[in-house]
Amino acid sequence: MRLVVLTALAVAVAVAAAFATRSPRGPQRSAWAGVACLILGVGGIVAVSEGRWQISTTSYTQLAREMTGNPRVTIVCDRLTGWLLTWSPPGRVPLTRDGDLTTTAYLDWPTCRSLNTWTADPTTPPDDETVAALGVLTHEIAHLKGIRGEGDATCWALTNAAAAATSLGAPPPVATSIQARLATATRTWPEAYQSTCPPPVT
Ligand SMILES: [Zn+2]
Repeated sequence: MRLVVLTALAVAVAVAAAFATRSPRGPQRSAWAGVACLILGVGGIVAVSEGRWQISTTSYTQLAREMTGNPRVTIVCDRLTGWLLTWSPPGRVPLTRDGDLTTTAYLDWPTCRSLNTWTADPTTPPDDETVAALGVLTHEIAHLKGIRGEGDATCWALTNAAAAATSLGAPPPVATSIQARLATATRTWPEAYQSTCPPPVT
């Protein structure tokens, strides 16, 4: 996706350059037209991205408050610019200096993008990437609930993913299938994040 954004910017620069060099209205006016075109292009990308950021931060924070019962917890999606400039894990809850969990969880931009795409129509089963993103979201909500251990947070996510999906608008069959698929998806997570849930009794 970074490649797509960089390509879009490159195209905007190319269009601006074309305006600046080929316009019959004179080089100075056409250069300003090119600059305006470039600013509009970049501004459009930023505006759309910012709008999505605002909506997702609000809706995932609301979900986290519902699921933890704590009105002070917050979920913040990384902005596109932050993701382009720095590496961060899919989800994280920073610790205080004393080693306590804070009340804010951060999700990286691809995780929020997958969730945002699916929540636009949560009646359809999500793709595998989105199932994993829902797992990350629910895992971080477990931390906001006070569950410290990574494996324990994944266990809580596996147990509560259907409830999270339902709150985001999924009908019961879709929510149930997400929870079942998440158990498979989390098996590819690093060892430390493997669920500590006891195996189901058969
Ligand atoms: Zn964790």
